Amino acid sequence: MLEVANLSVAYGGIGAVHDVSFRVAPGRIVTIIGPNGAGKSTLLNAIMGVLPGRGTVRFQGTDLGARPIEDRVRAGMSLVPEKRELFGTMTVQDNLRLGGFRLRGQPDAPSLDTIYALFPRLAERSRQRAGTLSGGERQMLAMGRALMARPSLLMLDEPSLGLAPRIVQDIFATIARLRETGTAILLVEQNARAALRIADEGHVLEMGAITLSGDSAALEADGRIVEMYLGQGRSKEALLS
Ligand code: ATP
Repeated sequence: MLEVANLSVAYGGIGAVHDVSFRVAPGRIVTIIGPNGAGKSTLLNAIMGVLPGRGTVRFQGTDLGARPIEDRVRAGMSLVPEKRELFGTMTVQDNLRLGGFRLRGQPDAPSLDTIYALFPRLAERSRQRAGTLSGGERQMLAMGRALMARPSLLMLDEPSLGLAPRIVQDIFATIARLRETGTAILLVEQNARAALRIADEGHVLEMGAITLSGDSAALEADGRIVEMYLGQGRSKEALLS
């Protein structure tokens, strides 16, 4: 589905992502974990075409490297950004409708009810302004809006950010359910344990480069992950909480 090869991204000549390569297959969850500033958001933004990068981004057999964002959306990529970027003065249902704008009128376009079945809380809040939602509800809405575009690859940038552990559990359970629809999922997270628990494969990103890759269960048990984070001044408890 997605093949990233030797992708590098720089801000004004200063490298933020170096020679990153990995793949995501349909119906799989791949997570990129790593500390603050490792380059996780930069990597997702380059795959989505928000930032220019050097290297290959191949999606469903087509090299999208030089293509603009709209081509990538049309090809089936969708990004839920770290800051969620909702339209705060618009209602929940209108934010969702915007997500489905490209597919409007098409017989197989997702309905609001599909999203409400996934996130019943959004159905209760459908006429409420997005700006008045709780953090967890905003994350649900950002995901719902991305899903309205019927993506074959859903990219999520730190969905757990700022949320209470119980809400994180709910959000991650929903992400795990999405895999069963055949959607490929690329999940970027600082919350390593939560991400590795639902992922099939993981990669550790440090200072812009992948330093460790593997099966997610093996990574969760790998003492080197703890060491790497301890090297960043983090405690084992903070990493694996
Ligand atoms: P976080 O979880 O804190 O967002 P991250 O792993 O997503 O961290 P990035 O936000 O991708 O990391 O940042 C990677 C590096 O690029 C950092 O050193 C950061 O300071 C730098 N960087 C990010 N955005 C810009 C920008 N717009 N201009 C210059 N440098 C940037």
